[in-house]
Amino acid sequence: MNYKDISQSDFSLDYTTGFSGEIFDVVEPATGKVLGSINAATTEEANKVIEHCKKAQPEWATSTFEVRAGILRKFAKALEDNAELIHTWNARECGSIRPKSEWELQACIEQSHTAASLAQAPSGELYPSTMPTRKNMRVRIPVGVVGVIAPWNFPLLLSLRAVLPALAMGNTVVLKPDPQSYFTGGVIIQELMKIAGLPDGVLGLLPGGAEPGQAVVENPATGMIAFTGSTAVGRSIAQHCAKTFKKTSLELGGNNAFIVLEDADITSAASCAAWGAFLHQGQICMQSGRHIVHEDIADAYIEALAQRANNLHVGNPFTEQCHLGPLINLSQAEKVQALIDASVAMGAEVVTGGKAQGQFVRPTVLKNVTPDMPIFTQEIFGPVAPIVTFKTEQEAIELANATELGLSASIHTANSAKGEYMAGLIEAGMVHVNDQTVNNEYHIPFGGLKDSGDAGRIGGPVNLEEFTHSKWISVMPQGIQYPF
Ligand code: NAD
Repeated sequence: MNYKDISQSDFSLDYTTGFSGEIFDVVEPATGKVLGSINAATTEEANKVIEHCKKAQPEWATSTFEVRAGILRKFAKALEDNAELIHTWNARECGSIRPKSEWELQACIEQSHTAASLAQAPSGELYPSTMPTRKNMRVRIPVGVVGVIAPWNFPLLLSLRAVLPALAMGNTVVLKPDPQSYFTGGVIIQELMKIAGLPDGVLGLLPGGAEPGQAVVENPATGMIAFTGSTAVGRSIAQHCAKTFKKTSLELGGNNAFIVLEDADITSAASCAAWGAFLHQGQICMQSGRHIVHEDIADAYIEALAQRANNLHVGNPFTEQCHLGPLINLSQAEKVQALIDASVAMGAEVVTGGKAQGQFVRPTVLKNVTPDMPIFTQEIFGPVAPIVTFKTEQEAIELANATELGLSASIHTANSAKGEYMAGLIEAGMVHVNDQTVNNEYHIPFGGLKDSGDAGRIGGPVNLEEFTHSKWISVMPQGIQYPF
């Protein structure tokens, strides 16, 4: 069956990638059903695709802004027209519930329009000169070929948030999605870009995992790597790119503090906590993964959060309405279970949930957690809310900052001025007062501090700089004389 027949329950994929590397299965996480098998790209094959993208780049860069903007707007329309196809793939391939998938698609449609307008932005500035007749220009130029390497959790968005601005700024792109979300985060993008009229070679697509990913990083033809994924892989990419002076945009892991002060509105804090900890089964870099709660209100908070957790339905998002779907694969579910078990062995107490059934994990609340437990020190990427208590606000800040990661954080308090002050003390790239940590407004520069990235930012106006190099061109009307 064609990849578009995905909504049929007896779907069996008939699709060839055109590559000859290792075979990987396209698995539906909710059922374990193998939807199909396809070939990855070998290193040699990946290098050929990258070379093809390199050849296509000069012509794409010199196409008018109207051509680039027009294609990106048509792509936005193609996304809208194919919403059902995208939602079904996102549910079946990635275990996404419908509202998550709808938000993700809408964000991509908006970002396609934003990228179209980037193509029309001024391409530089004029600067005055110490020499009266000299014209000084600072112009932005495309990087060349941008390698985009994306994960599986928000596959469409995390591919497109880099692909779209990179194309708008005159780069060609080679996209390497995660093999577990190859269709949602790769094939659909490539096919809809064809419908939008993107010329051949402007977007290359590579199936597979680390092998083609490494080819993208190591091939001298890629001038920039826009990577979203784990801190461990991001670090190895950073090391390679530092050696070759390649530009990077690295958006990495998180272990995000959710602070609840003594004066917080507990109903609202518990609602935010349930969303931030359990949305998409907790498989979000900004997950509210460390709940740091004042000891005087901890019991009320735990009860309110556990009640919300108990009301959530876990199921197969393709066949039923549910709040949580399956985790992406069995080893991820086993990892989450191991974090829970190890922490319980150290004295944590399960308030609700706590036991994985295959790839399904019920929303879990843990109390009596201490800061040395693995559920607190490690990124969970599963639907677990571990709760640590504190006495003083100074202690809350210290607990929040006691991690090498620094992506997102939030603070709940009736005193928003105090919240704003404390936000300044937290070592994270994004801090939200009286909200949860999973916030992404695509027109606002996004990114982390510490080991959550390279402190670059992606989204909105910063994309103009993020996906270009800068060049100073000066022009004198005629040659001048120097002293020697
Ligand atoms: P991962 O690092 O294992 O994989 C991410 C991508 O890198 C995949 O496409 C994978 O195939 C590829 N890859 C793997 N090894 C590679 C190598 N050696 N060279 C080049 N590419 C390679 O990430 P994951 O564990 O699947 O994803 C979850 C992680 O991503 C979490 O840590 C999460 O916090 C992070 N994440 C961060 C953000 C963000 O915006 N900061 C967003 C989503 C996910």
